[in-house]
Amino acid sequence: MKEDTLVIHEIYASIQGESTFAGLPCTFVRTTGCNLRCSWCDTTQAFYGGTRMARAEVLARALATETPLVELTGGEPLLQPGSFPLLAELCDAGRTVLVETSGEADVSRVDPRVHKIMDLKAPGSGETHRMEWRNLDLLKPTDEAKAVILDRRDYEWARDLVRQRALAERCTVLFSPVHGQLDPGQLARWVLDDGLPVRVQVQMHKYLWPGVERGV
Ligand code: SF4
Repeated sequence: MKEDTLVIHEIYASIQGESTFAGLPCTFVRTTGCNLRCSWCDTTQAFYGGTRMARAEVLARALATETPLVELTGGEPLLQPGSFPLLAELCDAGRTVLVETSGEADVSRVDPRVHKIMDLKAPGSGETHRMEWRNLDLLKPTDEAKAVILDRRDYEWARDLVRQRALAERCTVLFSPVHGQLDPGQLARWVLDDGLPVRVQVQMHKYLWPGVERGV
């Protein structure tokens, strides 16, 4: 069955660099492949290649590191049908489970125990037109919506979206500057000036392991 295998780029333990779980030991399961091409994507190495593995093996390797926290990421993990049962199995095993997703992929089949970290693709990504807006209605209080901000135009787009959709009342909202392209302090200033109820974050792993594609 197509849900029995996944194409995997890597599985490794590191420190969670983003979201409200930042700083915690976390096992990352990174799938191969993405149907978007964000201008600032920092995981282009996961677009191609990878190894097809039995879902049971992916689960066993994800559990073997014994971190309480596991994140399924990519690429775009929800492009692979096996991701949905894998997420449920990780929850069944007692892990706190995160999935990083682009905002384009349908999240309706994600197990409700999973914390969705869902992108809001601002104009600087070049992929705003790919957003599946119905996904916003599926965010719950334990989920997080993440806007990666390249410049002032992106900031205003995300700010207006947060206000118009009352997103901060629905879930945690993260604003993250594009690493090396927008000063985090500038982003923080804009958020403070507007009194926006969002969480400014930087990608901690890029400070812990500068220049390393993965954080180990
Ligand atoms: S959705 Fe994620 S993995 Fe895909 S191109 Fe955008 S940033 Fe990269």
